[in-house]
Amino acid sequence: MNAALRQEIEIFVTGLLLFLVVGFFSGHLAFWLIFGLSLYVAWNFYNLNRLTRWLSSPAKQVPETIGVWDEVYYQLHHLYQRQRKAKRKLSAIVTRFQESTQALPYATIVLNKDKEIKWFNNAAKKMFNLSSGHDFGQRIDNLVRLPRFMNYIKNEKYGDPLELEINQQQIRLTITPYGNGQYLLGAHDITQRKKLETMRRDFIANASHELRTPLTVISGYLEAIQEVKDEKLRLPLERIQEQAERMQTILEELISLSRLESSDEPEEIEEINVGQLVETVYQEAISMDKSQHNIEKQVEPVVISGNREELRTVLSNLVTNAIRYSDEGSTIKIFTINNDAYAGFGVEDKGVGISYEHIHRLTERFYRVDPGRSREQGGTGLGLAIVKHILDRHNARLSVKSKPGEGSVFECLFDR
Ligand code: ADP
Repeated sequence: MNAALRQEIEIFVTGLLLFLVVGFFSGHLAFWLIFGLSLYVAWNFYNLNRLTRWLSSPAKQVPETIGVWDEVYYQLHHLYQRQRKAKRKLSAIVTRFQESTQALPYATIVLNKDKEIKWFNNAAKKMFNLSSGHDFGQRIDNLVRLPRFMNYIKNEKYGDPLELEINQQQIRLTITPYGNGQYLLGAHDITQRKKLETMRRDFIANASHELRTPLTVISGYLEAIQEVKDEKLRLPLERIQEQAERMQTILEELISLSRLESSDEPEEIEEINVGQLVETVYQEAISMDKSQHNIEKQVEPVVISGNREELRTVLSNLVTNAIRYSDEGSTIKIFTINNDAYAGFGVEDKGVGISYEHIHRLTERFYRVDPGRSREQGGTGLGLAIVKHILDRHNARLSVKSKPGEGSVFECLFDR
């Protein structure tokens, strides 16, 4: 048994015995018993009262008492001290966290579930022109009134970052949900990186344009020379002609990539009957393939909005690849996609397939699984980079499923 409780019982029993003896000898046993018990109850009320007063400001000195009350004060005092220590430790951690996030060069804003500002650092204050005085508690999309930003906040699709221009600065912004319905908005300045990207893009575009003219002249002369009937020169000239044509294709594709990169969205958007698109590319594929493959189509009525010419390029690049990377006689299927989640189109082949580690790199420029086969088949390594770019401009995505030796399915998915 606890020592304090034992002491309390001892006090109680001794007191009780004392009053019993006095009661017995005075001849008023009941009176002295009730008097003694009332004294004990009054003592406890007195202590209860002292305890409630002390609890309202526990920082004060602990009242001195005896018995079980002493133990109660002692335990409560310890609990209070432990709590104070933990609180001090926690607020030191919070202060350290706030100091380090303040020092971060990245803008950081804490938002609650209603996207109201709870906290921000100095970089965020500068980037978004926030005021420490009245902007706490304001909805972030009431303060940053850019339509793309407002839509991003509203749609709550925070998987992809958002790039936008704010106060003449190009920024990249991410929102990460955390804790109990809170959000962490992070943003950093990418103006310099964007400038470099533009320089690189302009350089490739200019270089490709500059190379096009001399190449056309070379090709023209080559054709003229081929008319000279010299057996010794026939083969080398044919090779030179082939390589010149290859260079021409690469340049054309580089130019079309830089054209796509120069704007975020296609100029003309219209409703496109995907069935018709499949039909057109199917006819082209039949005549290009000269019956070497078994090309099939599967068409359902489905409509998407996009740029007709660009989407035709996407589908014909996929079909060209299916023909390139599958054996003669094998089946290639061009199909529409129409389900609850997506609309779109795709191409399936039973060709060489692609192993897992290559799949995520296919859309990089000049990335080829088998460069020899690609070159031999007239590939440039740019086809899927163009496909990806066009799909990005349409907010659509490319899905690739493939197994080496079994074939591949390339699907272009447009959200419903
Ligand atoms: P390429 O001009 O070399 O075909 P792409 O950008 O179109 O360039 O494709 C990149 C690479 O992806 C190709 O070199 C090839 O290795 C692989 N690839 C593309 N489509 C297929 C396919 N249907 N089957 C197998 N491999 C493919």
